[in-house]
Amino acid sequence: MLSKKEKELIIDISAGVLLGASIILALFFREEISGLFRHDEKSKETTEIVVEKKHKTITKFGYDTTQYVFEEGRVKNNEIIGSILYWQDVPYFKIDKLVQKAKDVFNVRQIRANKKITFVRKDSCGELISLIYEPNDLSYIVFNLADSIYVKREFRPIETKIEFASGEVHTSLWNSMKDNNLSISIIDKMEDALSSEVDFYHAQKGDQYKLLFERKYIDDKPIAIGKLLGAYYYNDSPKYAFYFKSNDYKGYYNYTGQATKKAFLRAPVRFSRISSGFSTRRFHPILHRVKAHYGTDYAAPYGTPILAVAAGTIIRKGYGKGNGNFITIRHDKTYTTTYLHMQRFAKSSKKGAHVTQGQVIGYIGSTGLATGPHVCFRMKKNGKPINHLRENFPSPEPLPDSVLTKFYVVRDSILNLMKSLDYLSDDSLHQESIVIKDHNDSKRIVKP
Ligand SMILES: [Zn+2]
Repeated sequence: MLSKKEKELIIDISAGVLLGASIILALFFREEISGLFRHDEKSKETTEIVVEKKHKTITKFGYDTTQYVFEEGRVKNNEIIGSILYWQDVPYFKIDKLVQKAKDVFNVRQIRANKKITFVRKDSCGELISLIYEPNDLSYIVFNLADSIYVKREFRPIETKIEFASGEVHTSLWNSMKDNNLSISIIDKMEDALSSEVDFYHAQKGDQYKLLFERKYIDDKPIAIGKLLGAYYYNDSPKYAFYFKSNDYKGYYNYTGQATKKAFLRAPVRFSRISSGFSTRRFHPILHRVKAHYGTDYAAPYGTPILAVAAGTIIRKGYGKGNGNFITIRHDKTYTTTYLHMQRFAKSSKKGAHVTQGQVIGYIGSTGLATGPHVCFRMKKNGKPINHLRENFPSPEPLPDSVLTKFYVVRDSILNLMKSLDYLSDDSLHQESIVIKDHNDSKRIVKP
């Protein structure tokens, strides 16, 4: 059985967290990463990652766990800050003062039923020292009553780990990545980063990919995917996208330092299929006669987001008997694009509004003359309909020589990292990597 489990390289950036993460990443892009990933002398295949680790703190919500008692609960229906505190025997004048102090920090009317609260006391029957309210995973509010009365919002430390995943396409790219437990957001990021290098509409059985990306954690619970740092895709040849940032440049670049993001996306819908191509003659399924089709139809389920293929301005928005709900965007002096049969428009889609590349402008539907849910996508060049899949758009400028040297260092660090865990374009791609996480020492060894 081919193992295509998620492989992850985890650099634990514990404790210091956000700060730690930014330091690691700052290092990453200040060409010093090679120092972090040292090759072991005994085996070239062993990569050693050394990350400094801080001592674990023994505070909870900022209160020393050896000094205080914590009682957890949930906000009950119709409870407000006043009633919660009243039942904890907090005198009125203190409640009043707390509510006053809260004004600039947190709207106490936003306290919601079923959210977590914690009572902090010196001992289990002592008077209330503090009330902690947790509106979400990211932050908590401290209502401190002892000594001085104050209210503050604290953000939980976010841990950023660098993770690695690889896999192979068996049925579809979508399924492969789903099997790999990769979320849509990372698939999106890979498609974006490689948009000009890989035609994902023709992803085939046997295609292989590897991704190096950040994942954000709070208390060891994954909360979000961060930046995609590197993407590799092998179909007929290896394709790469490396994230690079310098003073004047930021984005994804291929192996030679060419930006991988084109001015135009290949399609206005992700994970769709072309149900009808551009042609000057086709038999119309509803009108039952031969008619030119000056667009490309992308079929996808109702409600699938439709994306602006490039930045521009919405110059037309409306409804037509044949076109249904539609939008036209002017991108520059030369190109406009039109999107037909939308179920509905996105809120921000107003006539005259500026849109960015990839922005959601509406949703797939079948309004107007349409047999099923799809978007009819049309592009015009100097006012004449063209087949956008045949158009050679100007490629973005490559990085200048002065920046290229810096880029190569970043590129090679990412590449080495990918190679050290797994091998590019050979049979061992599916070998599992050992995942080593959070040991008590400061060193971690990851073997491919
Ligand atoms: Zn069409």
